[in-house]
Amino acid sequence: MEKYTALIHKLHKTRRLSGKEWAFLISGRTPKLSEYLFSLARKEQEHYYGKDIFVRGLIEFSNYCKNDCLYCGIRRSNRKACRYRLDEDAILACCHEGYALGFRTFVLQSGEDASYTKDRLVNLVRKIRKNFPDCAITLSVGEWDKSSYQEFFDAGADRYLLRHETYNTNHYAKLHPKALSAKNRRQCLWDLKDIGYQVGTGFMVGAPYQTPELLAEDMLFLKELNPQMVGIGPFIPHHDTPFKDKPAGTMELTLFLLGCIRLMLPKVLLPATTALGTIHPRGRELGILSGANVVMPNLSPQGVRKSYLLYDNKICTGEESAQCRDMLEQKTASIGYRIVTSRGDSLNMPQNAANS
Ligand code: SAM
Repeated sequence: MEKYTALIHKLHKTRRLSGKEWAFLISGRTPKLSEYLFSLARKEQEHYYGKDIFVRGLIEFSNYCKNDCLYCGIRRSNRKACRYRLDEDAILACCHEGYALGFRTFVLQSGEDASYTKDRLVNLVRKIRKNFPDCAITLSVGEWDKSSYQEFFDAGADRYLLRHETYNTNHYAKLHPKALSAKNRRQCLWDLKDIGYQVGTGFMVGAPYQTPELLAEDMLFLKELNPQMVGIGPFIPHHDTPFKDKPAGTMELTLFLLGCIRLMLPKVLLPATTALGTIHPRGRELGILSGANVVMPNLSPQGVRKSYLLYDNKICTGEESAQCRDMLEQKTASIGYRIVTSRGDSLNMPQNAANS
């Protein structure tokens, strides 16, 4: 036990561990050690962000996808998925509704939908930027070349979410079709960073074939990239994918890794994800108590929410946007934190990176 506690102290003090140390710590975690880790993570979180929990309005605007990721419910080969695509007006209507509810960050997420071309996305971002000059615009629309990312940025996008999914090349190949590679995914992240986006990356916890050694590689990559946001959530099987019989990731390991990431990158924005709320009714609250400080309620129109089904039993597909937001506000208050509606920029910006 002392060896593990010593590693937590080392992480807290130096903000880094070696690959071997990460694998050792992840394999040897215990409930007692986790509680200790969470107490340190909460202190770090409070030191930088107080009791503030940032909200982002998530608009899942298309579930068409040209990719065929083996874990994902909206993969191209899933003929049973009920496909939808919101047009620009419908997306703007979601932003207006969100704005009235207090949201100052919109996250536009979709599958890699060929009908949303680069020019169409640029126009969409421009319109949102013009209508909502005080809001942050986050894109999560997959892999593009650097010049396209630059055009989105010039049109007014300020943040980009792209999980690296897994650092390891062989592991990546077991989760994805041949056309996709870990190397290209990571190059996209470096390009986004280079352009000046606030970048979010991350991975699924308990993805099929994942091991503590592979997670150690993910932790080293997070340290190297030093992103503004890290999104991790449990893998949850979807019944119409090749991974339908694979076991889901656990809440316990997700919380442990949230605590570790908070100590490694203390100023990072760390969402308590919908997937975490899906595997346990108190998942998001427990995520906050382990170091998370962002929640992303859904602003998509109610009629399409059930169709953006990345995994089974996804929560919040029935409520109105206002209900979603109110429920999160109550749940957050119940554990002593408060929802704030500002843009919620990361303190982990390049000029602030000394402590990260
Ligand atoms: N197309 C964009 C992209 O590639 O980043 C955004 C959409 S993609 C569906 C968003 C994220 O959903 C992925 O990065 C993946 O980690 C997560 N995801 C997909 N299927 C999942 C599953 N079965 N369980 C948990 N998370 C899943």
